[in-house]
Amino acid sequence: MTVGTEYSSGVIGRAGRVERPEPRLRSAEFRLAGAALPVVSPARMYVCGITPYDVTHLGHAATFVWADAAQAVLRSIGVHTVSCRNVTDVDDVLTAAADAHGRHYDEHAVYQEFLFEQDMAALRVARPTHTPRARHFVPQVRQLAAALLATGHAYQRDGSVYFRGRGAVAAAGLSGDLAVELSAEFGDAPEDPAREDPFDVPVWRPSTDRDPAWPSPWGWGRPGWHAECAAMSMATLGAGVDVLIGGQDLVFPHHAYQAALVQAASGVAPFARRAMHVGAVHYQGRKMAKSTGNLVLISDLLRSCPPAAVRMLLLNRPWGSGWEYHEADLEAASADLEALYVAAGRPNRSAGAAEAVTAALLNDLDVPAAVAVARQEGGDAARGLVSVLALS
Ligand SMILES: [Zn+2]
Repeated sequence: MTVGTEYSSGVIGRAGRVERPEPRLRSAEFRLAGAALPVVSPARMYVCGITPYDVTHLGHAATFVWADAAQAVLRSIGVHTVSCRNVTDVDDVLTAAADAHGRHYDEHAVYQEFLFEQDMAALRVARPTHTPRARHFVPQVRQLAAALLATGHAYQRDGSVYFRGRGAVAAAGLSGDLAVELSAEFGDAPEDPAREDPFDVPVWRPSTDRDPAWPSPWGWGRPGWHAECAAMSMATLGAGVDVLIGGQDLVFPHHAYQAALVQAASGVAPFARRAMHVGAVHYQGRKMAKSTGNLVLISDLLRSCPPAAVRMLLLNRPWGSGWEYHEADLEAASADLEALYVAAGRPNRSAGAAEAVTAALLNDLDVPAAVAVARQEGGDAARGLVSVLALS
């Protein structure tokens, strides 16, 4: 008698089939961002990663812990996941930060990436399948630029290759003024006179003496930010992904242009079946950001509390909503975690409670509902939740 595994062609044997219950195909129940997202293994997840120029704060961690949780929930129902979390190690802010520290940009990026990896490991964020660094994907960016030129989606001007971006703005449903404002905020220089249209973005651009540079048919230069993520996602996950994950501030321009670039080059649309943009963390009344200096560092938090409490703080809330961090929130999260552990030590109160926890998680990753069921029911329901969300 040979019992079929999940990968074999079935159960074969002279004595007939092994009696076992039909598996429930719970992957069809998965909902994300308000709508059903039935997935087929492997679920492809692209997580917009860090630009390694400074320390990791609570706002970054929220995105990566949620990305980790989304994959863990899928794995808990037997869906295999393949994930990519890039490192944007070719970027003007990195070059400037390295200059300020008197370091070569390579050295600065490697050091900051090491610190980030330490924080992620401490927070029990599983290592993604792929962690591409932009500098290793310059050939793919050149290919992307050539493909866009060949199909008329891009044009060459003064050592740059510009992608025609008006369609990306239209797809995002933004007014022209707002699109220009957001593009300027994120360093896209829409006022650049070499562009035919302020909505066009560089796939390739020339380097000054201070910038890293690679040869190309258009001269020495470097990739544009959106093109880096477009090339890295195509190279690691193919022309489409199931879930595109990042912070709320990446909706436009970054993810809108990443999607438009991939779709134009591949002919496959949509690039992402669903987007999961994690709400921003505010502190002292403003969005937590390096530029404003109102940071809560992961390394500081972990000096005084266990990583599971930080995960509980980040996950026990709706993932898409912004929120304000107060020190007392961490104590509350620790108390919630303790209550969950106490519940995990109790016997099961009723049959099917573990299923109810899974159902809550599949329903748009509703962790607060899952925690409520787990605390009330205890036993397997609470132990299962602690395990899936890595809260131990
Ligand atoms: Zn990105």
